[in-house]
Amino acid sequence: KPVCLIILGMAGAGKTSFTRRLASKIVEGSRPYLINLDPACREVPYPANIDIRDTVDYKEVMKQYGLGPNGGIVTTLNLFSTKFGQVVNLIEKAGKKHKYCVIDTPGQIEVFTWSASGTIVSESLASACPTVIVYVMDTVRSVSPITFMSNMLYACSILYKTRLPFIVVMNKTDVVDNSYAVEWMRDFEAFQEALETAGDSESEGGTSYVGNLTRSMALALDAFYSDLKCCGVSSHTGAGIDEFFKLVDAAAEEYEKEYKQDWLKMR
Ligand code: GDP
Ligand code: MG
Repeated sequence: KPVCLIILGMAGAGKTSFTRRLASKIVEGSRPYLINLDPACREVPYPANIDIRDTVDYKEVMKQYGLGPNGGIVTTLNLFSTKFGQVVNLIEKAGKKHKYCVIDTPGQIEVFTWSASGTIVSESLASACPTVIVYVMDTVRSVSPITFMSNMLYACSILYKTRLPFIVVMNKTDVVDNSYAVEWMRDFEAFQEALETAGDSESEGGTSYVGNLTRSMALALDAFYSDLKCCGVSSHTGAGIDEFFKLVDAAAEEYEKEYKQDWLKMR
């Protein structure tokens, strides 16, 4: 059975670009099996083996149900998820040839993380194959300590909700190196200092309510950070991809040891 990677992240973080980068990676003689779950993307920049757009026409769904773009996307994913059992069968079969299966999700993260269909997709995968959540973060847009923190809280809430092994991918390191983020995660004082410096520029108060709250959060997140798998990558240049696959293999092992039993019970 292939190791399934569910790619999540804020709109524009680079989920599709990252999937495209993984698409060209040959491991043990094969490329990953690729699934596009974004009904609204104009073109899929990788050779998808399964594409939601081939099954449900999202524009047609908008018309038929009288929905706007967001409702259209959610409903399309709901309709598709009713057939997801068949998709899981295809994925299981693909495991003969492919070591990994990569699942690209809709641009807006909440479509997947706060919908019944997202739950159906991740639970059906997790009870059939080793499944790992890959949270793609925009390293360029997280340089402000408060934005960084809210991104990490979001990541933490997904971990909490999915109960699956978890990897944070800090994308776009070709523009901004991710070492600042690693430092903030390893060293609380460095984070606090960054907060206070940001406070000087008025926009993000170091001593304001938000500043104080952020400090408390950072302490609480310490446990989350302490055994979090994370790596910097550039989907554009391919930097960091080998390290990413090492984390994937470790996460798949973690699935077998710590998660599999619970998921099998749910089958
Ligand atoms: P998605 O909404 O999460 O699927 O994000 P996309 O993959 O569509 O990427 C959003 C934007 O970020 C696009 O303009 C990409 O070209 C850009 N992007 C994605 N990955 C990288 C990267 O590694 N480096 C740089 N510089 N830009 C990136
Ligand atoms: Mg996308």
